[in-house]
Amino acid sequence: MVCEIITIGTEIIMGNTLNTNNFFLSKKLAELGIEVYFHTSVDDNPKRLKSVIKTAFNRSDIIITTGGLGPTKDDMTKEVISKVLDLDMQLDKDMELNIKNMFVNGNWTMSDNNQKQAFKPIGSTFIKNVIGTAPGIYIERDNKKIILLPGPPREMKLMFENSVIDLIKANFNIATTSINTVGIGESELESRLNKLDLDTKNTSVLTFAKEGTVEIKIISKNKDKNIIKNEIKNIKQILEKEFQDFIYGYDNVNLEDIIINLLIEKKIILGLCESITGGMISGKLTQVPGASKVFDRSIVTYSSSSKIEELGVKKETLMQYGSVSKETAYEMAKGLFERNNLDIALSITGLAGPGHDSSTKPIGLVYICIITKNFEKTFKYNFNGNRALIRKRSTIKALDEIRKIIK
Ligand code: ATP
Ligand code: MG
Repeated sequence: MVCEIITIGTEIIMGNTLNTNNFFLSKKLAELGIEVYFHTSVDDNPKRLKSVIKTAFNRSDIIITTGGLGPTKDDMTKEVISKVLDLDMQLDKDMELNIKNMFVNGNWTMSDNNQKQAFKPIGSTFIKNVIGTAPGIYIERDNKKIILLPGPPREMKLMFENSVIDLIKANFNIATTSINTVGIGESELESRLNKLDLDTKNTSVLTFAKEGTVEIKIISKNKDKNIIKNEIKNIKQILEKEFQDFIYGYDNVNLEDIIINLLIEKKIILGLCESITGGMISGKLTQVPGASKVFDRSIVTYSSSSKIEELGVKKETLMQYGSVSKETAYEMAKGLFERNNLDIALSITGLAGPGHDSSTKPIGLVYICIITKNFEKTFKYNFNGNRALIRKRSTIKALDEIRKIIK
């Protein structure tokens, strides 16, 4: 199954607009197990557009276009494609009313041009646009599938997420399941996956690295829904056994969502003191609705004096071992735990670089200490990467340690 993306617009050809639609669509289609073989871009010119569409129709099974669905004269994607496919255009009364209502509700005046957007090739279906007036269109012709999406990235992305993913899954008999992991690198994960040798005729297992976590995606394609269901179930079981320590959720949940929900479920109050991450961990956690029920505070103790004043770290400890040491991490967490009403206290301190302090400690050295009523442990890590990456990795690691301790 060959897929081609055609991005349409003079502004992308002239270099006035960066072609981000290509990038987004390729990434999303890969996550559905669809092979994109061609990226084609063309300006708003009917003759050239026609020739590009013809070529695509000859070599690809799925064609996805973006741009040129608007009301103006230079928007002609629909018209040109209808001509190439020899399909007449038809006014859709429901869509016409829909567009009219949108203008009434928004208090805008509708121009005659807008009526153009209510036309579609006979036999095709509209794809809903919830934030713009130009609907997308889905056409099937000679065993080929053509999806027309609007140009503005915001509209295109939303339409893709809301409707096109399901449309593709249904029409190509694709089912997917995601397993979200943390605490294992993509390369190690992949080599362990290869050893398991899970791919079958119908099903493939792919990995996608996302901000410090890795998604394992099982993608299965078959007309028989039972075959798909069973294969996914079997592979999922094998993966759960192999990677159980690293799995934090399914189908693209966020690590922070999982943590807050676990804290709420178990009625556990969490507090942090952050040095190297400067509030990044609490930034993540407070994005989750309901965090206030279980997240008490994060104290950003960046300087030595703040570690002494806010957490009661001993001056001697700092002098003898330095602020990046297991001793300091321990006293930070201990101070936080004793001074506040918490079930879990976590401290984090580390060297993000690029400059060294006077010590011989390596950049990327990070300590995390966790203290609860009946548990105390300090963890040592050596992260690589630049300053931003080390801080990001520290944040994810701290979140993962919190997750493990709650479980
Ligand atoms: P509209 O109703 O806004 O006219 P449209 O579907 O006709 O939508 P275009 O007119 O082709 O879309 O493009 C609208 C805007 O969307 C462009 O000015 C550009 O900023 C953006 N755009 C179009 N194509 C791309 C692309 N491939 N990548 C990024 N941005 C794009
Ligand atoms: Mg336009």
